[in-house]
Amino acid sequence: MMKYPFRLFADYHTHPQGHRVQRYSRELLQPWVDSARAHRITELAFTDHDRYHPGIDLDEIDRLRERNPDLKIRAGIELDNDPETSAAGRKWIEQNWQRLDFVLGSVHYLNRADQMFDSVPDGAEQFAQGEIDQIYFDYFRRVREQVESGLVDCLAHLDLVKIHGHRPHAPMASLIGETLDTIRVRNLAIELSTAGWRKPVNELYPSDEIIQLAIEKGIPFTIASDAHSWAQLGENYDRLAEKMHTLGIHEISVFEHHRRQIRSVQS
Ligand SMILES: [Zn+2]
Ligand SMILES: [Zn+2]
Repeated sequence: MMKYPFRLFADYHTHPQGHRVQRYSRELLQPWVDSARAHRITELAFTDHDRYHPGIDLDEIDRLRERNPDLKIRAGIELDNDPETSAAGRKWIEQNWQRLDFVLGSVHYLNRADQMFDSVPDGAEQFAQGEIDQIYFDYFRRVREQVESGLVDCLAHLDLVKIHGHRPHAPMASLIGETLDTIRVRNLAIELSTAGWRKPVNELYPSDEIIQLAIEKGIPFTIASDAHSWAQLGENYDRLAEKMHTLGIHEISVFEHHRRQIRSVQS
């Protein structure tokens, strides 16, 4: 039971395929629904990485919905900035836009095309040379490119650049202000992701300071675990409830055909 009077009923960032192409099937997807139900999650969005779009079968999601009418199952994808694959990902999203409920935008690549900077521990190398504020500045510039793509509904792990624990010297508001303004103008959401708590930085994505700036600007939030296994669904949601309670967040966003609705989480 949760200590805080919140019902965190949604998980809007999940990877049924994990880190390889696995065609959607009943065998692959049903355990995710079963796990969601066990965690009292009644809204579940599948958001596999766009590089694995050949595995996504939207008809299979329809069949899953028919078999599990008690859950809202959202068809989504996570579009990143992979210099090799994201062009094909964008094309697939454009082609399937009408059947998708939700698109996450993310930045996993900085200057090196051959390595995601968020690989643990190897990606930390990319922070060894270079000035940390400059890396943050470059990261958020890339986030703005995702925002401006017009193809995303919500930004994933907005301050992923902190993953290995590197902290900027400049005030966060000066590094991220323009990015939050762009998100607001585009009317997008950002996610509260518990995944940061299982990474070296050991902190929610995004930080309390960024969440407070986002609240001031009126940016809405989704909640998510970024689960790469059904066993990770809703991970650390009790801790997330505590954080939301502390920061005064009492509602979350859900999406159907890219249309956002705001729902209370107070029970
Ligand atoms: Zn990601
Ligand atoms: Zn992800």
